[in-house]
Amino acid sequence: MSSTRRSFMMQVAGTGAAWVGIQGAAHAAPPVDEADPQAKSLGYRKDTTKVDDKQYPKHAAAQKCGTCQLYQGKPGDAAGACGIFAGKDVSASGWCSAWMKKAG
Ligand code: SF4
Repeated sequence: MSSTRRSFMMQVAGTGAAWVGIQGAAHAAPPVDEADPQAKSLGYRKDTTKVDDKQYPKHAAAQKCGTCQLYQGKPGDAAGACGIFAGKDVSASGWCSAWMKKAG
């Protein structure tokens, strides 16, 4: 008499599994809206090439948030925090009239 033996190995690794979120590691703040009153008063544009040079004669195309002293994003980031716009991100290629050259 023969019998077939089947073995089912079911391992359910459900209990005890720890779900570790990566919360906060890549926190993205909402972008600054160019139409925001504060942004408008500072002439903020998310694209430095769109700045009106007649209105802001000190502006130069090489000036952008990514090279500003107040920019808090990391090199290579598309956007980052700015000391002026609390809780919001500015574009690394943006600009406003408070631009000042990053030291170093
Ligand atoms: Fe960009 Fe600097 Fe103006 Fe902030 S202060 S919006 S980083 S140019």
